[in-house]
Amino acid sequence: MDRSKPRRNPYQRGQDLATPDGERQFDELEASSLFCPKCRAAVPVRKRLLLVLPEGERYEYLCAYCSTSVGRKIEEVKNKIQLIQTP
Ligand SMILES: [Zn+2]
Repeated sequence: MDRSKPRRNPYQRGQDLATPDGERQFDELEASSLFCPKCRAAVPVRKRLLLVLPEGERYEYLCAYCSTSVGRKIEEVKNKIQLIQTP
């Protein structure tokens, strides 16, 4: 079987491939497995929303086996709520 190679469309602009600034955002990486002190192994984790804060949403990572908290993370909200500070 001769599989046709995935050809790039020369007329399609590579918008998804690279941003004009060359800016890549790796801060959205999800932790897929973390070390659990109880299981003493790298375990798959569940993500749970803990709190919604002005600076972002706080998530907690729980061990999929024993539900021990193995990590926390604050995800910045892109549409930030602007808090108006009254003097
Ligand atoms: Zn565990």
